[in-house]
Amino acid sequence: MTPIPFNKPYLHGRELVYIAEAVASGKISGDGSFSKRCHRFFEQRWGVGKALLTTSCTDALEMTALLLDIKPGDEVIVPAYTFVSTANAFVLRGARLVFADSQPDHPNICPRQVEALVTSRTRAIVVVHYAGVACDMDPILAIAKQHGVAVIEDAAHAIDSYHRGRALGTMGTFGTFSFHETKNVISGEGGLLAVNDPAFAARAEVIREKGTNRSAFFRGEVDKYGWVDIGSSFLPSDIIAAYLWAQLENLEAIQARRLAIWHRYQSALAPELPALGVELPTISEWATNNAHMFYLVTRDLDQRTRLIADLKAQGILAVFHYLSLHSSPYFREQHDGRPMPCSDKFTDCLLRLPMYYELSDSDVDRVSEAVISSLRSTG
Ligand SMILES: *Cc1c(COP(=O)(O)O)cnc(C)c1O
Repeated sequence: MTPIPFNKPYLHGRELVYIAEAVASGKISGDGSFSKRCHRFFEQRWGVGKALLTTSCTDALEMTALLLDIKPGDEVIVPAYTFVSTANAFVLRGARLVFADSQPDHPNICPRQVEALVTSRTRAIVVVHYAGVACDMDPILAIAKQHGVAVIEDAAHAIDSYHRGRALGTMGTFGTFSFHETKNVISGEGGLLAVNDPAFAARAEVIREKGTNRSAFFRGEVDKYGWVDIGSSFLPSDIIAAYLWAQLENLEAIQARRLAIWHRYQSALAPELPALGVELPTISEWATNNAHMFYLVTRDLDQRTRLIADLKAQGILAVFHYLSLHSSPYFREQHDGRPMPCSDKFTDCLLRLPMYYELSDSDVDRVSEAVISSLRSTG
């Protein structure tokens, strides 16, 4: 039987044509014509204030910490169930991380916890729209407004997904996107910073260009450019942007196929899994589904371990996800000791099924049947 990988990067059509075009244009460093097309796409389609391509979502997150002047002693509220980059960006500036637990029925951050954790030292609240499903943003935005703290939306999973009609990544002070090969729209490595508060737009350009005002210089706004602030090199080559542009052009087709895969899994598994003690993904009433991920939540770690092994024996790669950051080897000594039972449950029990554009219907059926038969036989 042919193996079914968890993820597979793909060419949608014109990626190689556009890469050749970028090279032929004689400009393959950052902010060439493909980068500009990608920026405009985010600004026009989703109403991003100012869109800036970065070399990764990790870099976009690090830029937000620089833009907010995060310093030692500042507190940043972060979900415990997330990728390391969400937290690392702020630790690098000396911030104290304050972890918040997930919702019981979803890995997204719990707004009641956020409210209880805000102090006079809180500078930012970071939310992650897990699996592209919106966090409960109304209370979170209200808490942030009341206390005058920034909101950063880690929208790495969340391209083309919405909260009550507003695009994810456009509601916070900043939104950060990823085009890593495992996301819906890819460029190998790659990311984007959405600067939604115009007060940060000019400085974001400077920080991204090694602390220089080179972007303003190229627009003819200043007659020479120099070192005006701290910064680093956060902009990607136009070769990366060329790959990304070919994907963005085909966004509708990409999203439609992923949604078809997602619903095919759902139809096959929903009638069977609850009786076997396994939960399916939930989509909150305020959220849309961008089919970033199809995951299951098993009864316990043993059930998940057996299921992973059974699927692997049939050539199917299903993978678990984050390990709670509050109990990570790097952070556990610094954590304030509050238990994070929901985050721990997703650490032990969440399992992601293969999900990629080229996954065929028959492969989806093969995975679904293998999941059901494994759970039936081993319990
Ligand atoms: C993938 C991911 C990142 C990191 O994205 P890169 O582009 O690989 O840096 C950050 N946060 C979350 C939630 C992610 O899933």
